[in-house]
Amino acid sequence: MSEKRYKWRRDDYRESTKGLLMLNTGDGKGKTTAAIGTMVRAAGRELKCCMIQFMKSKTDRYGEHESLEKLGIEVHTMGDGFTWDTNDKTQDIQTSRETWALCVEKMRSRDYELLVFDELLYVLSYGFLDIDAIIAEIDAVRADQPHLHIIATGRNVDDALTKLIEKADLVTEMREIKHPFNAGIYAQQGIEF
Ligand code: ATP
Ligand code: MG
Repeated sequence: MSEKRYKWRRDDYRESTKGLLMLNTGDGKGKTTAAIGTMVRAAGRELKCCMIQFMKSKTDRYGEHESLEKLGIEVHTMGDGFTWDTNDKTQDIQTSRETWALCVEKMRSRDYELLVFDELLYVLSYGFLDIDAIIAEIDAVRADQPHLHIIATGRNVDDALTKLIEKADLVTEMREIKHPFNAGIYAQQGIEF
């Protein structure tokens, strides 16, 4: 095993890496799953991870919450029941702001190496948060912490996200070819939640 091949063992490896801004988007399944998979991998390398979920209800527990907490990964669900429950845009904006405030707190804490903002892209595409303010904050944090990795997810890829896509290092679009929902198969425990 030469040190040349296994370069992550070298002392200067960290100097040659940079924190990535990664976006998981598109209408197919797998955006949150891929973010969770990355956290599982990162936790195995002792990276401190935290996921903040914009859309899930505060009171709901999902399979991934049980697993991630066993790995020492923090998960915060901030949603209060979004539009489809409340039809209350003012409430949705308020919840989005409170959730983003927690994202900012976690970013600025300098305590993490990987942060996942689940459904941030959805909230941005609906205009619930100001994209320019979000980008300015992310820029400032990344300038201060060049090794911090950030993943944002959400299905809508629209013009509102263009500026963020330009900033990102990695953008993956999940494309639906088939989804069981369209065959009348409902969400299943262990697969969807
Ligand atoms: P997952 O959490 O399974 O990785 P996702 O993050 O890609 O899915 P979301 O847009 O967050 O998908 O959708 C939330 C829920 O809707 C998930 O349970 C997911 O399985 C389901 N879903 C994803 N894509 C589709 C689709 N094309 N049609 C219907 N339901 C979908
Ligand atoms: Mg998701």
